[in-house]
Amino acid sequence: MTAPRLATIIDAEFGLDGGAMMGVVPRPLWEPLHPPDERHRIRLVSRCAVFADPAAGRLWLFDVGLGRDWNAKAHAIYGFRFRGPDLRALLAGAGFDPDAVTDVVLSHLHFDHAGGLVARGEDGAAHLAFPAARHHVQAAHWAWARSPTVKDAGSFRPEHLATLEASGRLELLAGPRTLDARVAVRVVSGHTPGMQLAQVRTDDGDALFLADLVPVWSHLRLPWVMAYDNEPLRTIEDKRAVLREAAERGTTLLSEHDPSAPRARVRAAGDDAFQAEPFATPDDR
Ligand SMILES: [Zn+2]
Repeated sequence: MTAPRLATIIDAEFGLDGGAMMGVVPRPLWEPLHPPDERHRIRLVSRCAVFADPAAGRLWLFDVGLGRDWNAKAHAIYGFRFRGPDLRALLAGAGFDPDAVTDVVLSHLHFDHAGGLVARGEDGAAHLAFPAARHHVQAAHWAWARSPTVKDAGSFRPEHLATLEASGRLELLAGPRTLDARVAVRVVSGHTPGMQLAQVRTDDGDALFLADLVPVWSHLRLPWVMAYDNEPLRTIEDKRAVLREAAERGTTLLSEHDPSAPRARVRAAGDDAFQAEPFATPDDR
């Protein structure tokens, strides 16, 4: 039996406003690390993680990228640069059978994490990109996404959520949960209610998919919190707890949006500071 394999795949590059990404941090501090383009956007990627666990007969996907269901206005705002025809093709290129995906764990339903949920047929009708998979979402987040606030309504795609709901493949989770001997989720809610972080037990130790708790490695600095977050102080508390634990246990952290490196290990450098050693493996593309 083949050993379990954890890989990461970049679905697309895109850009978001540098100021919004860095919250209250003054531009002179973040600008040298994230030089913005002429429209003040900093470069980000939409990265998914994949975990093949042949012994358990499961193929896990953690978030699904931006997808390809975008109009010209969105392209102009976000400057999408897709890596391939779609995530299914990217998975196949990395040696994973897209039809074999058993579980999709969605950290949350913002479009840069869940845009790839849905694909369109030749008739234009929306369907799930991974129709056979169970789709795991926190119930608290589902409720929020279905009636978002004015502040974050623009981050959700109601038609995609309706497609998921109608598919019968939605599994709502109530809080932290062990999904399998090797996969569990924990919940952090400063960015948005019910955001879940997937923790994977590999043969090389644990890995934690950070989603929007630490979108790029610069956000390892505790006060660097996105303006998108609904409860920034809660994000700081959660970051402190998650990073302390990761430093103690030697957990491999996986970044969803950092363009420079997909993985890092951190160590504590004082009470509230962490130093990262970012890296990549042959399983990252
Ligand atoms: Zn988000």
